[in-house]
This record gives sequence, structure tokens and C-alpha cells, in this order.
Amino acid sequence: MTDSIPHGSVRRAAAARLPQAVSLLMPSTYTQPVLDWYAANARDLPWRRPGTSPWSVLVSEIMLQQTPVSRVRPAHQAWLARWPTPAALAKEASGEAVRQWGRLGYPRRALRLHETARIVTQAHDGVIPADYDVLRKLPGIGAYTAAAVAVFAFGGRHAVLDTNVRRVLARLSSGRQFPVAQPSVAEYRLAEQLLPADPATAARWSVAVMELGALTCTAARPRCEQCPVATQCAWRAAGRPPSTQRRPGQRYEGTDRQCRGRLLALLRESPVPLGQEHLDVAWPDAAQRARALDGLIADGLVEPLPDGTFSLLELPASRCLPARPGTRPRWRGQHG
Ligand code: SF4
Repeated sequence: MTDSIPHGSVRRAAAARLPQAVSLLMPSTYTQPVLDWYAANARDLPWRRPGTSPWSVLVSEIMLQQTPVSRVRPAHQAWLARWPTPAALAKEASGEAVRQWGRLGYPRRALRLHETARIVTQAHDGVIPADYDVLRKLPGIGAYTAAAVAVFAFGGRHAVLDTNVRRVLARLSSGRQFPVAQPSVAEYRLAEQLLPADPATAARWSVAVMELGALTCTAARPRCEQCPVATQCAWRAAGRPPSTQRRPGQRYEGTDRQCRGRLLALLRESPVPLGQEHLDVAWPDAAQRARALDGLIADGLVEPLPDGTFSLLELPASRCLPARPGTRPRWRGQHG
């Protein structure tokens, strides 16, 4: 998933300068087969059920940014059971959000979600905004996530380009095994052209293509024999040529990220702050350990205490001053 290209006039202006080749594609040739396939194959995911709240959708999208569905499902359920509304989360200290985040990875997402809950509570009466541009101003919500929430929670009509959708469209229309590293203007233009005119159908189309990429047009082993648009697929027609482009690696073992995860796990599971000697057992390389700990402190996830111990940052809700949408909350200790 990526949030690198914004919706709006800049992107539309750039799109207008593109060659017209992609406009020859007719959305209607893909739409109905994919919608029919989705009706028969969609997974029953909590955040897709009728009547699910916009908060539930937003939490799921933040969790799914870096984590697979199988791990998000129980975490999402526990999160919503504990904090069914943004206001419920906003009352808690930020460290509780990090603690509840557990081992989902990239725990800064928990802090951003907590910050979003406070802004929504203070500036939007506790109601998740439906407007794409307003969503875009919330912490940690980029172009993809704003579009996903606007579409899946409110039935808006936006192109929703995650990695699954990008892969399906690259194979179907461009004959490439994988899309380029960052979404291009041409991809956004194609995705928008493929949106059905009716917003409700467009929202269903968006989730259907996403599901097709997750279940059938997978990265490693696409099951073309089960694909509803196999006869229209450019990559399949070309004999499924392998990509010449290197895909970014996903190495985790031995990285600073793994080291940060181990330090956070110790702090999360301890009922009391921990001294350096306890953290030292988490990781053998002292320099890497120090770098990771510095990063956690700089990111606001860990707080060094005056007695030399460390704890998850526990900012009580009462210390948070009201924030305007799109700005970071100010803390009394920093700006009075
Ligand atoms: S035919 Fe195969 S490669 Fe093409 S879209 Fe379907 S699953 Fe993907």
C-alpha cells in the first residue's frame, strides 16, 4: 500500500498530459465478472460487515497498512471491544494504545491512531469525517487510507489503490507481473476510469478487485484458471513473462526494527519500568540496541524516567490540549 500520490488537482492536471492509450480500456468489461466473483468468494471480515462503524473501518485500515489480515482480525476485534468509539480511546493514555497494539508491528501506528482519536473527539464531535480531504489531514492517514475510509465506510467514489489492486491492474491492463515501485499518475488515471459511475457499485468494485488480488491474483502463485477476467488479462495472454524489475526485500531478522520490537515487547509486558540491565538482555549488539532505544524515545513510544529506568510513554488524556484538525496535539509540558 502506498500514499505517495495525492488525490486532487495536481494529480488530475498531470493525468491530463498522459497518452490516451489507457482510456481505450472499457470498465464494463471487467466490472460485472469481478463483482460476480466477489459475491461468491468474498471473505467474511468484521470491518466489511453491514453496519460496521466508520471507526471500525479506520482502525482496520491502519492495522492492515503493514500487517496481514490473519493477524489483524483478532487485534481488531480486541481493539474495538476495548474502545468501540474514538472517544473511548481518547480518554486513555497513549501508552495503553501501544500496549494494546501488542505485536502487530510498526507501533507508531498505535500512537497515530490514538492521536487521531483525540482529534476526532475534540474537533469532530467524536464522528469520523466522511470527506476525503478532511480524512487526509488526520495523523497517519495518507492518500490510500483516506480513500479507503471514504469508500468503505461512507460509500464515496474514489480510486483505492493498495498493493493487491495495483498488481491486478498491472497484470490485466499493462501485461506486467508487478507494478512499478510507486503508483504512477497513469495508474491512478486507469483506476479512476475503471470506477463504475454509481458510488455504491464503485465501492463494491474497489473491494472486489482488492479481494481478487488477495485471494486469486496473488503475488507468488496467481490462480488464473479461477480468475473471472482471465480471458481479458494482458499478462496471461503474453505467457506470464517474469518481471525484470527487482522487488524490494522484506528482511526483518537482525534489523533495527526487530530490535525495537524486542525492546517494546519487554516494556509492554512489564508492570513496572525497566532498567537498562533488563533491556540489555533483549538484543546482543549494544550499539544497535542503543540506536533502537533512542529511536523509540524519539518516536514518543518510550519514556526515559529520572531514575534511569524506561517505560512505555503514558501521557494522561488530561495533559492533551485541544488540537485543530491536521495539527498535532500540544502537551502542557511543552508549550504551557
Ligand atoms: S488471469 Fe491471472 S494474472 Fe491475470 S488478473 Fe487473473 S489471476 Fe491475475
